[in-house]
Amino acid sequence: MGEFELIEKYFGRAPRRAAVGVGDDCALLDVEPGMRLAVSSDLLVEGRHFLSTVAPERLGHKALAVNLSDLAACGAEPLAFTLAISMPRVDESFLAGFSRGMFALAESHGIELVGGDTTAGPLSICITVFGQVPPEQALLRSGARPGHDLWVSGRLGDARLALEVFRGTATLPGSAFEEVRRSMECPEPRVPLGIALRGLATSAIDLSDGLAGDLGHVMRLSGVGATVDYDAIPRSTVLAMQSAELQRECLLAGGDDYELLFTAPPSRRDAVLAAAAEAQVAVTCIGGIDAEDELRFVDGQGRPMDVAPRGFDHFA
Ligand code: ADP
Ligand code: MG
Repeated sequence: MGEFELIEKYFGRAPRRAAVGVGDDCALLDVEPGMRLAVSSDLLVEGRHFLSTVAPERLGHKALAVNLSDLAACGAEPLAFTLAISMPRVDESFLAGFSRGMFALAESHGIELVGGDTTAGPLSICITVFGQVPPEQALLRSGARPGHDLWVSGRLGDARLALEVFRGTATLPGSAFEEVRRSMECPEPRVPLGIALRGLATSAIDLSDGLAGDLGHVMRLSGVGATVDYDAIPRSTVLAMQSAELQRECLLAGGDDYELLFTAPPSRRDAVLAAAAEAQVAVTCIGGIDAEDELRFVDGQGRPMDVAPRGFDHFA
């Protein structure tokens, strides 16, 4: 099977919303009047972002999910995406599973694949998503102010725990492993929550590199610090049963959570909870924003804790 036959068979679906989709030199997209285009890309490389053991269907899901998570963090509504993929050879069972997982998630968000590029090479996948957001309501990393609450969606750390099991540094019984493995391989992008937080959250970021590092990005861009109640960080019962050290690593330095970390004024607590209920996702207040540009952790009693692992950095 050649390049063009492959594209046609696995990626060439007729556009519905886009004016022009796969097949021409460019895709042509309409953005509603008054909306701003939101664009984000993520590159996934085998061995670095995913293991060769991942089912193709889950890889297809995750490749799109991590991109949709960026739109969620911006409060944008997804419109369409492109896919650039390189693979060592044409493996039809891989392509069938990969495209099935990717299109299933795309359909659940009402978006379509409108173009891309396909080449031979080591397996790597780059998706670019396009979304739209009202300019004055886009959620940015820079809007956190002293006194604002710090919130997180869902639960943190399971994806990292699964990675530790794959690495052989942790062991879990089968059902618990399947649960955390699902978190690692099938993250649910928090798009409805991001949209519900428009005009409500003062800043937001999606957690892809661990709470400590990603919160650090918000602090730097907002020119603020934060105090995190470590005991309040939501975690699964599986993670809560692990050693204190491992929990800390998974919760703070984890990565691959794809939950939203956001801030909002304390006066908007009820509105935040209502937005989360509307989006059908749990949110937890885990601390607050400080004027002093430092990241501090306290325990449930408010006593300072000496924990601050760094987030993930590919080149550090
Ligand atoms: P170009 O010469 O402009 O790079 P290509 O020959 O690479 O175009 O691709 C032909 C068409 O197929 C283009 O419309 C391109 O967007 C689309 N395409 C290529 N690879 C993919 C892919 N993996 N997924 C979706 N569309 C693709
Ligand atoms: Mg090309």
